[in-house]
Amino acid sequence: MPRTLITGGAGFLGSHLCEYFLNKGHEVICMDNLITGSKDNISHIKNEKFQFVEHNVCEFIDLEGELDYIMHFASPASPIDYLELPIQTLKVGSLGTHNALGLAKAKKSTILLASTSEVYGDPLIHPQPEEYWGNVNPIGPRGVYDEAKRFSEAITMAYHRTHGINTKIVRIFNTYGPRMRVNDGRAIPNFLKQALTGKDLTVYGDGSQTRSFCFVSDLVEGLYRLLMSEQNYPVNIGNPNEMTVKEMADKILQATNSKSKIVQVPLPEDDPKIRQPDITRAKKYLNWEPVVSLDEGLQSTLEYFKKQLKT
Ligand code: UDP
Repeated sequence: MPRTLITGGAGFLGSHLCEYFLNKGHEVICMDNLITGSKDNISHIKNEKFQFVEHNVCEFIDLEGELDYIMHFASPASPIDYLELPIQTLKVGSLGTHNALGLAKAKKSTILLASTSEVYGDPLIHPQPEEYWGNVNPIGPRGVYDEAKRFSEAITMAYHRTHGINTKIVRIFNTYGPRMRVNDGRAIPNFLKQALTGKDLTVYGDGSQTRSFCFVSDLVEGLYRLLMSEQNYPVNIGNPNEMTVKEMADKILQATNSKSKIVQVPLPEDDPKIRQPDITRAKKYLNWEPVVSLDEGLQSTLEYFKKQLKT
């Protein structure tokens, strides 16, 4: 039976990965320091092949026994989190990734690094293919996340080239679904929370900036296929269905039947103006593309938010 470590396993994506790998018959070790993750995300998992270890991966990772796979997902990932936790974000991307790679080397594990569309910054090429090197402000407020992930990619490729580690890099585009925190701060959770509690929906700027939102089950399927593939170079995983943030706010008002209004508040610094994944590589090498429609995905996320907010 394969044995898999999921760092950040108590987070939004991590918890879905824990379930997915258990369903595939893996033994799963979920590691998290619970800064942004929560035990609530994994408390429903009743499986003797599952264990939780509370640990900060910026410290040496001491694990007994063999390890086949590492899914390295530990990091704050919402802009409000990494603005509040800039140093932790830089440390987990650098020291944490170094430790995860060191563990992969010691255990001869295959490791998949969770990177991000933020490596493209405020992109000058649209949609973004993996060959694009990006347009990142290293000293801006988002630089702590963007540069941490760019460093993570660099050290991952260095371990691959120097030590022959079987490494994978996924660049994850905007993803949503159940278990995003109600106070996560990203667009979909914010809009859902606001719509369900009768508050105004806060569109940053004029709402003409675009994003492309992928439902979590599609993302997780792509991650698994990448882990099992021969691809050592980065692969974008995301849904190319691009829309403006204003369109998303309208969509959420519709889905929730809410009477809330949309208000404009100032656009945060360095907020990317456009974003859409070019998924040619994922289609070609992983035979993957998203299958969940926005309506289906939003409905399932909405049900989760209703439960959380008890509305
Ligand atoms: N956004 C917004 N209102 C909110 C939260 C986010 O208009 O309450 C915008 C944000 O400025 C960005 C987009 O929605 O243009 C997506 O933001 P998110 O925080 O979800 O993630 P990002 O793609 O910026 O990492």
